[in-house]
Amino acid sequence: MNFEFPTKVKDLQARVTGFMEGNVYPNEKVYEQQLDEGETRWQIPPIMEELKAKAKSENLWNLFLPESERGYGLSNLEYAPLCEIMGRSPIGAEVFNCSAPDTGNMEVLERYGLEEHKKQWLEPLLSGDIRSAFAMTEPGVASSDATNIESSIKLEGNEYVINGRKWWTSGIGDPRCKILIFMGKTDPDNPDRHKQQSMILVPTDAPGITVLRTLPVFGFDDAPHGHGEVEFDNVRVPATNILLGEGRGFEIAQGRLGPGRIHHCMRQIGVAERSLEKMLKRVKERVAFGKTLAEQGTIMADIANSRIEIEQARLLVLKAAYMMDTVGNKEARAEIAMIKVSVPNMTLRVIDRALQAHGGGGVTTDFGLAHQWASSRTLRLADGPDEVHRVAVAKMELRKQVRPDFN
Ligand SMILES: Cc1cc2nc3c(=O)[nH]c(=O)nc-3n(C[C@H](O)[C@H](O)[C@H](O)COP(=O)(O)OP(=O)(O)OC[C@H]3O[C@@H](n4cnc5c(N)ncnc54)[C@H](O)[C@@H]3O)c2cc1C
Repeated sequence: MNFEFPTKVKDLQARVTGFMEGNVYPNEKVYEQQLDEGETRWQIPPIMEELKAKAKSENLWNLFLPESERGYGLSNLEYAPLCEIMGRSPIGAEVFNCSAPDTGNMEVLERYGLEEHKKQWLEPLLSGDIRSAFAMTEPGVASSDATNIESSIKLEGNEYVINGRKWWTSGIGDPRCKILIFMGKTDPDNPDRHKQQSMILVPTDAPGITVLRTLPVFGFDDAPHGHGEVEFDNVRVPATNILLGEGRGFEIAQGRLGPGRIHHCMRQIGVAERSLEKMLKRVKERVAFGKTLAEQGTIMADIANSRIEIEQARLLVLKAAYMMDTVGNKEARAEIAMIKVSVPNMTLRVIDRALQAHGGGGVTTDFGLAHQWASSRTLRLADGPDEVHRVAVAKMELRKQVRPDFN
């Protein structure tokens, strides 16, 4: 086993780190300020487009997308340490055109889209001109069991007609969001519940789409991205917009959610690292009861536990990435499920320790920890709650043969 990254990856690590230090971190506050100063918070702070143009000109762009000529040519394992660095800043991933939900959606378009879809949607997504969203979850049903999804997709002549209500459609608030991947039922009576669903491409400007509201996350609006509750009322799209064919929605979900989930986990490692760094800085500066906080035993234990847990989590993420590269997303599903549970939980513990060490400052917006905690907490729900992934891991364990003579 070799724990060292190849030179190509080390060079990219240095370049992405340099770009973050020179351009991204110094502009985090500028981004927030421009967001607040705009007429509405649902507009794009100009600094974002400036940073994107700079990253693109330095060829630090679309570093994801393995096994595709359109990508950078990196495997999941090679991309992992870079995605981690981007994850250290809430605006990092977008600067490099590597953010959710676009990366997962682009992988779907690349794998399952027709040439015309690629031209119309994938190309502008890859160039960073538009953004996208993924509409699966519904307010009316327990959507962690995706067979419950009730929205309908009905063929009428050479069009599909879409009806239903979604929520937590992340990214719909962004004025650049032009395309949705929508999941609904084309065949609700199919005895095989996994063949009832399909995925279809829906342009956001199609008549009949209404964003009813954007949902706050612990009070944060997550503007300009946002999470929408969206009504679809007789929305019509060309029949060719169906992805892969009717009844293939679950098949696509398996393909989409693997990459999307691991990218979240890679970024979460970066969030944890940055939170620990903030903690280290703070505890070295603050003095209580005659010594720095860093010299207090319990704070030291918190620092050590955070370091231990980050290292463990990173190794499991790298193993999952390696499995995706070597045996495919489907075979890697146990590892993907394991990281989807363990990594956000680890990050939450690390942020919580950092937040505690900041005292009252930790729960304000001054240090970014409260917002990061809120965002990371959603990852115990988004892309499937912890419990569902634990059930998946347990089922795979239970299927393993146990030696009959084993006591
Ligand atoms: C910030 C954020 C962003 C999101 N972005 C998107 C997006 O872009 N697109 C999208 O389609 N969805 C998105 N989601 C939705 C997310 O994927 C769902 O919330 C999630 O799948 C759970 O579905 P649900 O909310 O309907 O919960 P329910 O299905 O109602 O489940 C509620 C709870 O029941 C428990 N539970 C469920 N199954 C089991 C089980 N087998 N065993 C034990 N307990 C169980 C879990 O604790 C679960 O949290 C987002 C959610 C959040 C919070």
